This record gives sequence, structure tokens and C-alpha cells, in this order.
Amino acid sequence: MSATEINERAVVTRFAPSPTGFLHLGGARTALFNLLYARHHGGTFRLRIEDTDRARSTQPAIEAILNGMRWLGLEWDGEEVYQFARADRHAEVAHRMIEAGHAYRCYLTGAELDSMRAAAQAAKQPLRIRSPWRDRTDWPSGQDYVVRLRAPTEGATTIHDRVQGEVTVQNAELDDLVLLRSDGTPTYMLAVVVDDHDMGVTHVIRGDDHLNNAFRQLPIYRAMDAIAKAAGEAGWPEPVYAHIPLIHGSDGAKLSKRHGAVGIEAYRDEMGILPEALDNYLLRLGWGHGDDEIIAREDAIRWFDLDAVGKSPSRFDLKKLEHLNGHYIRASADSRLADLVAEKLGFDHDDTRRGALAAAMPALKPRAANINELAEGTAFLFATRPLAIEPDAAPLLAGDAPALLARLHAALDAVHNWDTEATEAAVRQVAEEAGVKLGQVAQPLRAALTGRRTSPGIFDVLVLLGRDESLARIADHQA
Ligand code: GLU
Repeated sequence: MSATEINERAVVTRFAPSPTGFLHLGGARTALFNLLYARHHGGTFRLRIEDTDRARSTQPAIEAILNGMRWLGLEWDGEEVYQFARADRHAEVAHRMIEAGHAYRCYLTGAELDSMRAAAQAAKQPLRIRSPWRDRTDWPSGQDYVVRLRAPTEGATTIHDRVQGEVTVQNAELDDLVLLRSDGTPTYMLAVVVDDHDMGVTHVIRGDDHLNNAFRQLPIYRAMDAIAKAAGEAGWPEPVYAHIPLIHGSDGAKLSKRHGAVGIEAYRDEMGILPEALDNYLLRLGWGHGDDEIIAREDAIRWFDLDAVGKSPSRFDLKKLEHLNGHYIRASADSRLADLVAEKLGFDHDDTRRGALAAAMPALKPRAANINELAEGTAFLFATRPLAIEPDAAPLLAGDAPALLARLHAALDAVHNWDTEATEAAVRQVAEEAGVKLGQVAQPLRAALTGRRTSPGIFDVLVLLGRDESLARIADHQA
């Protein structure tokens, strides 16, 4: 099939995670790129759970992947496909390949394979199996066999990868890979090709750790294309490949636990990151649109293409993620932020403190880089008297602070319409009369009201606490 024919097919992309662990950053970015590519071209984005490895696939991992994708707004089209459920279809294809001479039954024993492995090792060669059974038909009855691909031995295979460019591998370097194991179960190499074909996948966008696999998967497409066409059926067109570089840690090494959280849920639950911030960050990690940093989903869909995906690994940078997160926090509705904070603080649905949280958000959100900081910043609202004073705030309440606080108490006690303007006027007046700068009264006031050196603007704090509570907290520290 020519490139133009491929381009005429409606775009279908897919994300095909193996549920052996949580959804990690690299996987989420792969899913995002697949989604954006499909949406950009008015195509379809599918999800396939590659649960063929029964020993390592788990239900909690499947849930984590589905939840992680939903949280990130990576909604897939149609039902997700479970690979294991399709094992019969995979076997059917393998047997069709045997019949047509594109695959063969291999009766090599474990001992024979061991000695081939040892010989390859001694010759310092990688193990490339071309089994003697490739050309034998004297199949022993009742003996276990695997099904191997009759891979091309001559010539070369070239992939025009949309990210990696043109990559060529000599066919002599490939082997007759196993399609079906002796228990009749399919290998990943076979399952992936059959599923991609059956799901109509036109573009395979995935991590570049799979580039080598593409050279082993293409011969399966080509064999099935020939078989299908000979039978008067539609062919098996090859997909367009785009192998995207992996994400590395800030030190340049492949991203791992050592670099902190790699599972998506830790960004939500432990680090207080908003999904749109993580999406935006992952988008910019390895793809660019000029100098644009903040890119909304609609713009991402409008602009995304594979040509602007970089070839070199991108480095994960938590500071940048938090910077974006701060932006999206400031852009968020107060009620949404209050809900997230309430969840973090473990408040019930009908907890009356939720109202106070929402009221505090405008004052708190300008500085917060994550939901944890936002939650932290609300602590003063719910603290009970006498307030615990943090050690670094204690000096602010010493010296002439108690005397200043007494003057503040008197001035504020006279304020009846309790808003930021009126309280500010009263506090400024005290500073003026005492002949000190505003900061010199604001700092002891802050310490008395919040127990901390830092807080939202002091007049916001006064208003959020309310008149009675503010006066009582000041009274606790006045001379
Ligand atoms: N299941 C494979 C993985 O999680 C991906 C296969 C593919 O994208 O072709 O690495």
C-alpha cells in the first residue's frame, strides 16, 4: 500500500498499555500524543489493554490506567479492547500463516535451544534463531511445538518513521520470532499486529523502546497482506510509525523511581497537580509550538502534528510542571479548588468549613504552586486558640510587639464594617501613630493571627477570620 493510500484511510490511533504497573508519565504522554493526533485529523483514538502476560497483568493496574486516563481527560473512543480475550483470533492468524508457508511449526527442544544459545554466546553473537524446522515437514506427532515466523533472510527493511526518520535494518539481523508458544498462546509480537489490524489502526505512535519491534512486526503485516489479497480479501496495510523518545530524569538518565514519582496518581494525590497542568506539561515535553508554554487542549488539537516531535529524549523538570500548575490554579474556579482542598483535608461533603475554604481561595491562589500549598495555606482558618506559633514566627511576637498588638486591638475593635478597606485604614493609622512602617505592625499581626511568618495578605486574613476571631487572636498576644 502506498503512502497516499494510507493517508486516505481515516486516522485511527491507539494507546496500548500493558497493565503490569501504574500509568506512568511516559505512558500518559504517549496516550496524549495519540489522542491529539487522532483529534487533529478528525480520527479515532482507541485504548487497548495488553493483558496477555497473565502473570504480570493485574486488575488494580487496569483500574489505575483507566482512572489515570480519565483524570487527564484522555477519553478514548469506543470500548477498550482487552488483548487476552482475543487469543483465539491471534492463533487463527498464526495458523493461516502456517498454511500459506509464512510461518512454520518448530519442534526445537529446550536442550537444543540451550546449546544454540551457548554457541551464540561463545561466538559473541546475539541469538538469532533460524530453526532447522523452517524447511522440514516431517512433523513428529504428539510433540509440543511453537509457531515461528518465516522471516525474510535477505535484503533489508526500511521504516519511514515520522519521528525517527528513515531507519533500516538488514533482514539477516532479524530472526524467526515465535508467534505462538507451545501452549498455543500468542506472543506480544503477533498479538499487537493482529489487534492493530483488526482495530483499523493507521498510526502507531509509541515509545522508541519499541522501534526494534517494528522491524519484527512488519513482516507479519506483509505476510498477512499477501495471504489476504491472495484470498481476495482486503489487504493488511502497514501502519505509519512514529516512535517518540522516552522521558528522562533531570539528570539525563531514564526516568525511574529514583527521580521521584513516576505514577500519574502520585502527581494528583501526593503532589497536588491539576490534570490540565500535567497535560500541558507532557505536551510540551518533546513537542513544541514556537515559544508557547501555556497551551489549552483546543489549541493543542489544532496545532499538534508529529513533525514537531523532537528526536532526543526530553528531561523531566518538576519546577516547570509546578510553574504551569500555578498558572492553572490561578485560572481555576474557587469552588473547584475548595473541593480539591476539602478532599485533601479530609472534610466531609456537608462540612460547614467548605464555605470558608471557597472564600479563602482568591487570597490564597495567587501564590500556590500546588493543591498541597493551597491546603497548607488554609490551616490558619481552622486553627483553635491559643494558636500554635511556629518557631520562626515567635520572634515577631517579642519585643515591642505586644504593645503594638494592644494598639491594633483597640483600633480594630472600633471597626464595625469589617472589610479589607476599613481594616487596612485602621492598621495604617496605628503604624502612623506609632511612627513605624506598615510592615512593622503587619508582621506581629500576621504572627498573632496565623502563627506564621507568611500568609495571604494580612487584610484578607482579617476578613477571612472575621471580627470576633481576629480580635480574640490579637488579644492572646497583646500586652
Ligand atoms: N504494550 C506495550 C507497552 O506497554 C506497547 C505496545 C505498543 O504500543 O505497540 O509497552
